[in-house]
Amino acid sequence: MDTATRKISSPNQSSERDEDYDVAYLDRAENALDDSVDLPLFFSVVKPAKIVTSAELLDCCSIYLAKPDIEKVKDAFRCADEAHLGQFRKSGEPYITHPLAVASILAQWHMDADTICAGLLHDVLEDTGMSKFEMVQRFGVQIADLVDGVSKLTKMSFSSNEIAQAESFRKMLLAMSRDVRVILVKLADRLHNMRTLGVMRPEKRRRIATETLEIYVPIAHRLGLNGLFRELQELAFINQYPRRYEILRANVLRTRDKRRAVLERILKETREALPKSNIRARIQGRDKTIYGIYNRMRDSHASFSDVLDVYGFRIIVRTVEECYLTLGALHKLYKPVNRRFKDFIAIPKANGYQSLHTTVIGPSGTPIEYQIRTEKMHRIAEKGILAHWLYGDGMDTSEIQNLVSNWLQSLMEIQRTTSDPSEFIENIKIDLFPDRIYVFTPKSRILSLPQGATPIDFAYQIHTGIGNGAVACRVNGEEAPLSKKLRNGDMVEILTDPTSHPAPEWLRFVRTGKARAKIREFLRERNPEESVNLGREALKKAALEAKLDINTVPEPIWYKILKETNEPNRQALLQDVGLGKLFAAVLISRITSLAQEKAPATSRVPVTIHGTEGVAVQLAGCCHPIPGDAIWGFMRTGLGLSVHRADCDHVSRGRKLDPSRWMPAQWKEESQTEALFAVPVLIVTTDERATLARTAAELAKLRSSITGVGITDQESGKTHTVRLMIQVRDTTHLERILQEIKGIETVVSVCRMLDSNRPIPAKASN
Ligand code: MN
Repeated sequence: MDTATRKISSPNQSSERDEDYDVAYLDRAENALDDSVDLPLFFSVVKPAKIVTSAELLDCCSIYLAKPDIEKVKDAFRCADEAHLGQFRKSGEPYITHPLAVASILAQWHMDADTICAGLLHDVLEDTGMSKFEMVQRFGVQIADLVDGVSKLTKMSFSSNEIAQAESFRKMLLAMSRDVRVILVKLADRLHNMRTLGVMRPEKRRRIATETLEIYVPIAHRLGLNGLFRELQELAFINQYPRRYEILRANVLRTRDKRRAVLERILKETREALPKSNIRARIQGRDKTIYGIYNRMRDSHASFSDVLDVYGFRIIVRTVEECYLTLGALHKLYKPVNRRFKDFIAIPKANGYQSLHTTVIGPSGTPIEYQIRTEKMHRIAEKGILAHWLYGDGMDTSEIQNLVSNWLQSLMEIQRTTSDPSEFIENIKIDLFPDRIYVFTPKSRILSLPQGATPIDFAYQIHTGIGNGAVACRVNGEEAPLSKKLRNGDMVEILTDPTSHPAPEWLRFVRTGKARAKIREFLRERNPEESVNLGREALKKAALEAKLDINTVPEPIWYKILKETNEPNRQALLQDVGLGKLFAAVLISRITSLAQEKAPATSRVPVTIHGTEGVAVQLAGCCHPIPGDAIWGFMRTGLGLSVHRADCDHVSRGRKLDPSRWMPAQWKEESQTEALFAVPVLIVTTDERATLARTAAELAKLRSSITGVGITDQESGKTHTVRLMIQVRDTTHLERILQEIKGIETVVSVCRMLDSNRPIPAKASN
């Protein structure tokens, strides 16, 4: 139990407890700046769930919706009423009372007509015979999409014990965040279900309450829906721990009359102090929820009276200047508590909340918390994202979008700052990166794939057999090519034929390492001929791009290529290209460079080094020195001189063991010829294929080439590591080449390596 509650308490604990107040007060004195006041005594945030009639709903809608919109709502009601006819809720009431209540909550939030209709119809797709197609016909795509989104959320089963499920739920919410109204309908749905949870069995009540605390409460909070946030919290607490709730509630009721005198005095003094500074303000008492009291007692081991003896007032003024003037006036009136002042006006919270907070010591040592804000800040603080629909003031669509993306960011924050490590596993951070998408199986299981993934990636993600046997697919119910790029929230269905098998073309569009590996594996074993053809085509295409006629490549060059790639024959070479093991662009680049050299340079050109004339010199294979590097020579008995980079391990180790055989060496000017030297480089990239193709092209321009490639397929991460062996004249040439590679968009970083596994030690930069 504690995990569940602690999880939710964390946002509450940090700073949000200062926002404890009751929306009920607001409803009473919403409109004008008047002198209406309230004492911060217990007032329940939980509203009774009364039956809403369709007439009441329409009345509520007609306050802010136009005639044609009202007609739309009426039609949606008729449809829902028919569809749910004969269905009953657990409480015995006709089922339609639920969608009516949900729609009326949405109407209280002044949501648009489409959303109200979606509220009325939200259980129709799930529970009745109506199809999405029919719904589109009757109500249009907008409403049908909203209802469909809500249904997907509803179908998601969720068990509080399984953290993995909670994560799936979050992922799905992200997928749904394409339209925030889906979540608002779902929240209204959950609110009504929570208000009527009493009729359920105790275990079910507890389970739904826990789920509410884990999923819906944080979402309401992050969207800034404060009233909803507090009511859901309170309802969840009532259903999770009915006895604790009752005991605390009885205590609060007993306490409140004792405090009345001191509270009235504070209120009076505050009210008198402000006009002296020429401030006109609305003053409200702020209430604590029972849940808030419980939470604070448990988390800070405070006693009941400790928690209850701090009183909160909220002061709503006309301008930002008045906020600060009010703060000054209050600090003159009562002594402020050191360091308990917070300026959320200058630095708003992630969900858009703005206010000044201060704590002072009032009469007879009573601590008082004040929140000071303007009317507009107040609306945002209470209604969050709903302020747009409710007041239509000062917020356009992009601001709403901002709030939503802030929310997404906050979700990430929850993951990061959570105290319970088992809660939100490391994984989710990766999954929350924008280059992941979330798609659904027909059974509403959610899969996370990299951006650009196709139905084939999806199929292999589910099962190798499904990938291998895939013949066609449907995306959101419509037939789509297997190469289609999937989008967030897509529902994907793969049609398989057990006699079918993977096509080599798939390798061209799959995004995941898993799919690529499985396709290659299959092709290698079952269908060598096709991969040879695919390889031939790929090579032709790459040659065309490099303006090379593949048919004119002379036989000796092919022979050289085969030797370099370790392939027994042309067929095998083409097959490996077809299987994606060799990259066509790289091969073409190498062929081009070989064709340009009359006598192709070998990778091991003998170099003369100053002071060692007449001695055979070899470049060490361990550290790949090139002209321009600081070097040391090692005299090997009878074998001549071997040359190492000065920072190579062999140099330091060897000089200790046998100093007499090591000598510093210099490159000879004459060695700066057209001879080329192999040097390993390491590229970190987001797209290895694009990078290799571009790198090969850049190298060809700079009269260099690639002689070897190694790739680390990293499906889990965002980047791939590509190790290349490239040919350069000297360090200057290498520098230019690295600059060019760095300029390629898909390249994250590039560096020279000491050998293929070790980076160059930090201080030696060349
Ligand atoms: Mn429902």
